[in-house]
Amino acid sequence: MDKKYPSIIAIDGPAASGKSTVGVLLAKKLDYLFFDTGNMYRAVTWAALKRLKRVDNEADVTHLAETVQIDVQPPSVEDGRLADVLVDGEDITWQIRSPEVDANVSQVSAYPGVRDAMTYQQRRIGNRGRVVMVGRDIGTVVLPDAELKIYLDASVEERARRRYEELVRRGETADYEKILKAMKKRDQIDSTRAVAPLRPASDAVQICSDRISAEQVVDQILRIAEKIA
Ligand code: C5P
Repeated sequence: MDKKYPSIIAIDGPAASGKSTVGVLLAKKLDYLFFDTGNMYRAVTWAALKRLKRVDNEADVTHLAETVQIDVQPPSVEDGRLADVLVDGEDITWQIRSPEVDANVSQVSAYPGVRDAMTYQQRRIGNRGRVVMVGRDIGTVVLPDAELKIYLDASVEERARRRYEELVRRGETADYEKILKAMKKRDQIDSTRAVAPLRPASDAVQICSDRISAEQVVDQILRIAEKIA
């Protein structure tokens, strides 16, 4: 590739806004690492539910976040996964996508100590460069010096529809109204929490993916990236 691109690309946005789909395609085109930080918050939540049986004891959940070993690696199985997610060596890639984790992850990720532990690890990975990192606070908190920041959004109805179709594709039972309600709740907690709330960085380029395909979003981002590199 002879064109130059920014080495650190941050993509933030609410649940199911297309961040992962777009991030993976973009990272492939640029031969960059794709890193989805949501996997880490989901992994801590899964571990808390499994080992502590609850997520409302902030001190215990924080201690767990500080001590558990989370690995996110290139996919080892061709079952639609974008990465392998391991907790203390156990492959929990699909377990962290359960409605139970969905329902508890925003509470866990609002704990400041949990965020500190995750942010520390994410910065180490991000600052190596040649990375597309996606999440809620990458452009605002984790990598505020990223050369390119994208804020990807879509209407909550469209995002719930995407999540519904994703579950149906995986052969799971899905109820659109329930998904919509849960997504609204998660959006609300994520964007009103005291630490690192979901919001666009002041220098982020905002893209709405409601009526355009993931490929079109990637093309838009590449055009912007070529201009600023
Ligand atoms: O992106 P995904 O839906 O997998 O993220 C799951 C949850 O993890 C979010 O709803 C949010 O509470 C939390 N999260 C976060 N900061 C990030 C990434 C995810 O708080 N950078």
